[in-house]
This record gives sequence, structure tokens and C-alpha cells, in this order.
Amino acid sequence: MSANIIDGKAISAAVKEQVRDEIARDKLTVGLAVVIVGDDPASRVYVNNKKKACEFCGIKSYEYALPAETTQEELLELVDTLNADKNVNGILVQLPLPKHLDEKAVIERISPNKDVDAFHESNVGRIMIGNYSFLPCTPAGCMELIHSTGVEVAGKECVVIGRSNIVGKPMAMLLLHENGTVTVCHSKTHDLAEVCRRADILVAAVGRPNFVTADMVKPGAVVIDVGINRLDNGKLCGDVKFDEVSEVAGWITPVPGGVGPMTIAMLMRNTVTAARIQK
Ligand code: NAD
Repeated sequence: MSANIIDGKAISAAVKEQVRDEIARDKLTVGLAVVIVGDDPASRVYVNNKKKACEFCGIKSYEYALPAETTQEELLELVDTLNADKNVNGILVQLPLPKHLDEKAVIERISPNKDVDAFHESNVGRIMIGNYSFLPCTPAGCMELIHSTGVEVAGKECVVIGRSNIVGKPMAMLLLHENGTVTVCHSKTHDLAEVCRRADILVAAVGRPNFVTADMVKPGAVVIDVGINRLDNGKLCGDVKFDEVSEVAGWITPVPGGVGPMTIAMLMRNTVTAARIQK
């Protein structure tokens, strides 16, 4: 059996078109500030892709590229300025920040209404109780990909590998909101393969190339690969051993072209939501 490939590129393009049409139809003025500190090449690629998506959707993007030696005070001052700027509806600080900066303090400084990544404590808390304006972009994108398969989450066994604050934990929460029976696995989980084999919907957010092998996957399962790993040969690969898992799974996301583009599309959606809230 060969799995259906979930086309994240096409689905994300449709979301961006929706956002573009909504902005044009309602004559919205929407702005997103993207802050990048230092010269991490992966961060630069992400920021460029976000700017490109803004341009496509008709969102004005404001880039603040700061040197690696920027101080905490300088960064917080910029966040304060952007919080007060009426042209800026969303603020995104590209992570990771250089080691001497306190990421948590920076995120907490962003006005929750402009926190389009949904990393601020108050937005995280609102997701927990199901009363939210923004969903974190990557888990929200994974949900869209799952919906695209037509497989209903309600009542299904859902296994998330990884428990980070930005992917694993909120992913588990979104599956729970849709009435999945959710198990969260992590580096201390016993019999990981056995737990994963129970999953009708398996989400891998580990950060290790080819971590999920065919013996860990239930035949016909929906497999969502969040991992982005760069191999020594420069190629990108996910957490899932695609060639063998696609022989077992019913649905699978490729890397690249799966979750990655969805994250950016959901950011565009959150930015429009932010603009509406502020108006
Ligand atoms: P993280 O390092 O914060 O978390 C990794 C998680 O994996 C941890 O909770 C850990 O417990 C778990 N883990 C590690 N080893 C394990 C093992 N042997 N068995 C079971 N669990 C194990 O990473 P993250 O920020 O959640 O990101 C995960 C991956 O997703 C990375 O590859 C990252 O690049 C990628 N990512 C992709 C997107 C996207 O847009 N596609 C967005 C964010 C992160």
C-alpha cells in the first residue's frame, strides 16, 4: 500500500489566497513586524519566506534586522515601540535569539493582541481553556492538514511525539479540543514504538532525522511530520522515515512541502485576526 501524500504546499497556498481575498474584500490595512536578531541562516530563510507570504497576501511587512550584539534593553524597547505602533498589527520575534538574550522576557513583553505566534503566556493559557483568538501557527497548520484528509479526529487515538511548548503541547491540546484521545510521548516514554502503533493520527515533533520507522506506524494512519532536520549533505528531512512509512500509513506529509508552508500560512491568518481584534 502506498500512502496518500498530504500536499502542504497546495493547502497553504489555498489558505494564503483566502487571506488575500479577505483583506481585499474588506479593504483591511494589515501590518506585520518581523524582528530578527543576529545572522542565523535558517532564521533568515524563515523571515524571507514570511515576508514573501505577506507580500502575496497584501500584508505590509516591517523588518527589523538587529545585530547579534543587541542588548536585552534595546530589544525590549523595540517591542514597546511596536506595541504602540498602530500600523503594526502583529509582532513576530524570530526564535532562537542569541544566547545572551532572555527569550521568555521578550515574548512576555509583546502585547497579547499582537502576539501572532501565540507564544505569550496569556495566549497559551487561553488555548488551554479553549477560549482563544490565536492558535500557534505550526500546530494550527497540522490541524488543517489533518482536516484535509477527511479523517475525523473525534474518538481517534492520537499520539504526539514531543512535548515542547511551541509544538508538542499545543498540538496535543488542539487534538483534545477536537475530542481525540491524546497521548503525548517524550524522551522518557517507555515502549515508544508500541505507543505509536496505537495511533490513528501520529504527529512527530522530535527534531531527529528518520526517527519514526515503519514498525512504529499503524496501517492506514495519518502521519504528520513536523520535523525539519538538515542532513550533512545539506538536504532537509523530517522526523519520519518517509520511504518506508509511506508504505504503511494511509496519509503522510512530506518534508519539505508539508507542515513548513502551513506554519507560514497560519501566521498570515493570525495577522489578519490581530488586525480585526485591534480595530
Ligand atoms: P524541541 O527540541 O523543543 O522538542 C523535541 C521534543 O522531542 C522534546 O519534547 C523531547 O522530549 C522529544 N524527544 C527527544 N528525543 C526523544 C526520543 N528519543 N523519544 C521520544 N521523544 C523524544 O523541538 P521543537 O521545537 O518541538 O521542534 C521539533 C521539530 O520540529 C524540530 O525538527 C523543529 O525544527 C521542527 N519544527 C518545525 C516547524 C515547522 O514549521 N515545520 C515549526 C517548529 C518546529
